[in-house]
Amino acid sequence: MTDTIATQSSPAIPQERRIVTAIPGPQSQALHQRRAAVVPVGVSSVLPVYVARAHGAIVVDIDGNQFIDLGAGIGVTTVGHTDDAVVAAASAQLADFTHTLFTVTPYEGYVRVAELLAEHTPGDHAKKTVLVNSGAEAVENAVKIARKYTGRSGVAVLEHAYHGRTNLTMAMNFKAAPYSTGFGPFAGDIYRAPNSYPFHDGLSGADAAARTIAYLEKTVGAADLACLVVEPIQGEGGFQVPAEGYLPALQQWCTDNGIVFVADEIQSGMGRTGAYFASEHFSLVPDLVLSAKGIAGGLPLAGVTGRAEIMDAAQPGGLGGTFGGNPVATAASIAVFGQIESLGLLAEATRIEKTLKTGLTALQVKYPIIGEVRGIGAMVAIELVEPGTLLPNAAAVTSIATFAAQHGVIVLTAGTYGNVLRFLPSLAITDELLHDALSVIDDAFAAL
Ligand SMILES: *Cc1c(COP(=O)(O)O)cnc(C)c1O
Repeated sequence: MTDTIATQSSPAIPQERRIVTAIPGPQSQALHQRRAAVVPVGVSSVLPVYVARAHGAIVVDIDGNQFIDLGAGIGVTTVGHTDDAVVAAASAQLADFTHTLFTVTPYEGYVRVAELLAEHTPGDHAKKTVLVNSGAEAVENAVKIARKYTGRSGVAVLEHAYHGRTNLTMAMNFKAAPYSTGFGPFAGDIYRAPNSYPFHDGLSGADAAARTIAYLEKTVGAADLACLVVEPIQGEGGFQVPAEGYLPALQQWCTDNGIVFVADEIQSGMGRTGAYFASEHFSLVPDLVLSAKGIAGGLPLAGVTGRAEIMDAAQPGGLGGTFGGNPVATAASIAVFGQIESLGLLAEATRIEKTLKTGLTALQVKYPIIGEVRGIGAMVAIELVEPGTLLPNAAAVTSIATFAAQHGVIVLTAGTYGNVLRFLPSLAITDELLHDALSVIDDAFAAL
């Protein structure tokens, strides 16, 4: 079996940046034309180089260019592209069976992922997990379960939040364009409160929490809220780390008022911040924790994990879906958990934070348009401003991302105003590659 896998997999990809054509290259441009005829413009691509292979922190395109991947498919390939253990586990499962439907005839992989999530999410209470296919679907299910459990309908979310692209989650997002423009009518009973954004509001955690709570008490009232959904570190919003004490105060208010506290850890979870879940950095024990992106090494899988008594509120048959907890995805996920342990990836996230923050802070000294360097673990961002102000500088972000791509570095943008560059590489990336990528970012700022 192992031999078969070794001969089937692609030859090793050297972990180095190498640009051999214009970006995008001629083959990518040709494929892009074919795509334009058959794929709608609503599905856009940040960097239209078409991928041939990927391994570790390197993506190879069909023109033979090699990119350092600082995005990991938006924090999905956290253990690295085509991690050997993940590929082996998924390949073996592919040969055994690809689908039966857990709600028809179940299998162990689903149960094992639920056990691993119970073990690694915060808190030692009894926990249960439902597995689904996407982050948005996890958010949808968390809201369903919280409503059933509380008998209430209101859903509270925060400014700058991002929760997905389905009808309910569009209504939960802060940013309308491009996510929801023209796609209404939207789901009702969603209440959006101010968040903690220290770089902009300068508030202490206690003051920011008092503001959030006062807003919700006034505009909806605690008694009508089923849940409060928060990203402990906002993803698309721009990796804001809330002021100290903010999230615990919100959780306490939820507990005191019978509101289900939901941590959307779809981007921040699965080791990304140097803890299994970012909630741990804030001493949170959420009632429900949402996982997706990094959970299965790139295979589609997501989960809602929570207090057993809340999760059991949904009636038999009320949760599930055809592909939810697919056996190949659960096999990959079990391998991801194994790799986080055996490769010591939580410590790697902390190393990456140090390397990125040291490099980016040095750039901030040289380039005053870098307003703030922030984040935890391998979830680091810089916010670009008009020097000396808090005014967003989105144009500079676009120029830098474009320059970086042309020089072999994939870097993602974020932020409500598009003025954040976020770095969320795989935890397998070496310091050598990070330093090389940082030198490209330095050149990009110099070229502005
Ligand atoms: C990506 C993301 C989602 C949506 O996940 P999909 O798998 O794209 O549906 C929800 N919440 C957060 C925090 C995310 O980063």
